[in-house]
Amino acid sequence: MQQPAMSDSNNHTFSKTIDDNLLQKGMSAYDALKKIQKDLEEDGLKSHDLGSYTTIQMLPETEVLIHQSMGVNMVNQNEYPKTTEIHNNMIKTIAHFLHAPDRDDVFGSSTAGSSESIFLAILAAKWAWKKKRIHGKPNIVFCSNAHLCWYKFSKYLDIEIREIALEAPNTYPMDRVIENIDQNSISIVAVLGCTQLGTSDPIGALNKRLEAVNQKNNWDVGIHVDAAIGGFVAPFLEASVFGSWDFECPLVRSINLSGHKFGLVYPGLGWILFRHKRYFHRELRVKSNYLCGISESFTINFSRSSSLVIAQYFNFLHYGFEGYQKAIKQCIENARLLSKLLTNHDVFEMLSDGKIPVVVFRFKDTIRVDISAFTARLREKKWMLPYYKLSGQMDITVMRIVVRHDMKPPFLIQLVNDLFECYEALTTKHKS
Ligand SMILES: *Cc1c(COP(=O)(O)O)cnc(C)c1O
Repeated sequence: MQQPAMSDSNNHTFSKTIDDNLLQKGMSAYDALKKIQKDLEEDGLKSHDLGSYTTIQMLPETEVLIHQSMGVNMVNQNEYPKTTEIHNNMIKTIAHFLHAPDRDDVFGSSTAGSSESIFLAILAAKWAWKKKRIHGKPNIVFCSNAHLCWYKFSKYLDIEIREIALEAPNTYPMDRVIENIDQNSISIVAVLGCTQLGTSDPIGALNKRLEAVNQKNNWDVGIHVDAAIGGFVAPFLEASVFGSWDFECPLVRSINLSGHKFGLVYPGLGWILFRHKRYFHRELRVKSNYLCGISESFTINFSRSSSLVIAQYFNFLHYGFEGYQKAIKQCIENARLLSKLLTNHDVFEMLSDGKIPVVVFRFKDTIRVDISAFTARLREKKWMLPYYKLSGQMDITVMRIVVRHDMKPPFLIQLVNDLFECYEALTTKHKS
């Protein structure tokens, strides 16, 4: 059979390096499936990805729903009115458990993750500042425990970053945060469950201080809460665990959550909510007429599958409040078990506070172990354990295990056994 005309160089290379080029002829679907499955065996095991916050397992029923809705584009609001209605009702559901004063006046959306949510939050806060027409350059205030995306997007949006470096874990430099704001501060960012340690900022107390400062100076500075991790944890625990942190605090104007972390949905889903519609200026909403009818868009991505929103809807319906509560409490209990097992011997010291199901620890000061050799040994047993130096002025290197919903006690016991085995192997080798 005659080949269609194509460049010599393509013809020449395709047979040799099929991984780097689009195949001329393709292969059977079965062969492609088998090849890809074989290729992917080289990846780490997701169950052993200890540092990851994202969900790796959902109930079998969600596979059906995800498959069914995979090809539905969220942005086609008039073609898929029921999907749009479900989505909008989910915003109201989340607004309700985040104590929004008027859930019909909340403005929000699903996103691809908290990063997209945070971009939108900074954009909205900058716009609100711009409309006030204050002289000067906008700034944003956060502590060094903020996620990298705050640095990234503040830079993209040309906002001065006023970072307050943390000097010790579990201390919030309230005075320094307050000293750093002025009339051009578009927002203070507070974290509910920080990525590195799982600890949270004292948001209720910050709200009180800021109310007084705003009043004294006639300023209008608000708070954004980064609840990527804690947003689907705190609402299901006793109110005293985190204190007031959500829209109950009058100055909290926007909140982001990651559906794919403790919202128990696969990677690719976040949420952003604004306390009142007016906090997301109408000039930022764009109307499109490419599709049937007019639809409004304001997220960064235009096209996105509805499947993960539907998967979260399934979780809402199936688990309900009590189911989420049970799942989250189970994770916290398992995290407690893991901390206990790790501190049974005189080797590790805990740094996490136990409120979020994450266990952050380090070798005791008296113990000198090469962490990179330690984690490399664990990797031989398939465990992927991240280690990193804490940000700010803390010269502390820690390791992190996120106790996800899929991690049950027998699994954790096996993990701890392997951790100590690797530790023993390293230290006895050193001694000899
Ligand atoms: C994970 C995380 C983010 C980024 O969220 P994605 O959902 O991964 O985009 C932002 N802030 C915090 C505190 C996080 O832990």
